[in-house]
Amino acid sequence: MKRREFLGGLGGGTALAACTPTPQPNVYLADTGSQEQFSWRMVTTWPKNFPGLGTGVNTVVKYINELSGGRLNITVYGSGELVPAFEVFDAVSLGAAEIGHSPSYYWLGKSQAAQFFTTLPFGMTAHEHNAWLYYGGGMDLWREFYEPFNLVPFPVGNTGVQMGGWFNKSINTIDDLQGLKIRMPGLAGEVLRRAGAIPVNMPNSEIFTALQTGAIDAAEWVSPYNDQAMGLQQAAQYYYYPGWQEPGPAIECIVNKEAWDSLPADLQAIIRVACQAAVVDMTSEFMARNAYALQELIDDGGVELREYPQSLLIELKRLTFEVVEELAENDPQVAKVWDSYREFMELSRGWQAISEQSYLETQEL
Ligand code: CA
Repeated sequence: MKRREFLGGLGGGTALAACTPTPQPNVYLADTGSQEQFSWRMVTTWPKNFPGLGTGVNTVVKYINELSGGRLNITVYGSGELVPAFEVFDAVSLGAAEIGHSPSYYWLGKSQAAQFFTTLPFGMTAHEHNAWLYYGGGMDLWREFYEPFNLVPFPVGNTGVQMGGWFNKSINTIDDLQGLKIRMPGLAGEVLRRAGAIPVNMPNSEIFTALQTGAIDAAEWVSPYNDQAMGLQQAAQYYYYPGWQEPGPAIECIVNKEAWDSLPADLQAIIRVACQAAVVDMTSEFMARNAYALQELIDDGGVELREYPQSLLIELKRLTFEVVEELAENDPQVAKVWDSYREFMELSRGWQAISEQSYLETQEL
């Protein structure tokens, strides 16, 4: 129909008024299906309000509560308040809580493939990891992997490259790791075991006391911002870098599948977008606050920065890929995720080398 005919059909002078949409205040809510309100419990592996990670929980919950106009109201429970830190996965999987906030590499007891969705020792940086998850097939694998556990996963942050850990002993060769009890979770712990150390995993709440009392000899936690907040500089002298064990660990938000399915589409979209916004927020916060905290640790805390010797890193890297290949040989699920991760990492290296890596070197000129 031509425009003139269309206007004519509506009766000339009144046509424009007739084309003006009549205000329909309820049309949006009608489309979403309901104004039903949901009250959810968020369980986490972090102490409530813990800098960067616990506050990262608060950030995503604030986004969800605000964007939903209170229709989806989430109450946060810190580690141990509703369930212990290492039971977050099961609690959400079984529906004891609707939503959780944690790193996936705490769930290696479910499958070794869980490691890859957080990070891999000597693996990808935060930037590369996000690229793999969002545009390299990583999210499809993550959803597929969590489906049998009744969970819907989302990335919800990333700490960026971490520090290598706190030691009271100088580490010059791989032999210096022999017999040391080192707090290091995940696949990196197995790498340390093969290097002769004794890996220990424990929730962050126990690290300071264990290190200070000598129950463990060394510990990695996160990076300057978090480590300083936990006072680790008072329990150890040497602060080693780089964090080979966690080059860009993603944090996850997990949602119980039935709880997810009970939501109207707009509330599902709000969770998805709030999580993505939280990735930007957490990544930016860690980048900024680590820089401030590092300066303070050196200037005021008397911390001695130490770089891991290259020979040690080469050996740890060799052991890392030895472990990964063995896991992949024995577990088709690991093989599938590792194939995707490795392929993307190798592809990314080509671009990274001539982009960020090359540019970062110019900053030293
Ligand atoms: Ca760590």
